[in-house]
Amino acid sequence: MTALTSMMGMEVSLDPMEIVGAIDADGRCAHWHSALDVVANKCATCGKWFACAWCHAADHAFGQMPLDEPAVMCGVCGHQMTFHEYGTECLSCGAPFNPGCKLHPELYFQVSD
Ligand SMILES: [Zn+2]
Ligand SMILES: [Zn+2]
Ligand SMILES: [Zn+2]
Repeated sequence: MTALTSMMGMEVSLDPMEIVGAIDADGRCAHWHSALDVVANKCATCGKWFACAWCHAADHAFGQMPLDEPAVMCGVCGHQMTFHEYGTECLSCGAPFNPGCKLHPELYFQVSD
């Protein structure tokens, strides 16, 4: 039984990328948790994935990502997208994304106005 337990433990490493702040398996958080809020964003400074900018409670501001690097992750299937690929649904699994998130790209991306 001991050997079996350790084998099962190893399979935990196959879990999707950790999303800081996520309160469910699809990447929703305490701030944004409608059916559409399944997108995670990457911080360029610490390199971790966050359910939203408010979940990024760290000693530095959220680091905006370059537009041509994967900076958005679908919380449903784990597919990663650049700013240009990111739209209103996942390119891989088709999960709908919250269209409101693209209204404030300056929070997450190196966009100039
Ligand atoms: Zn960070
Ligand atoms: Zn949040
Ligand atoms: Zn997906």
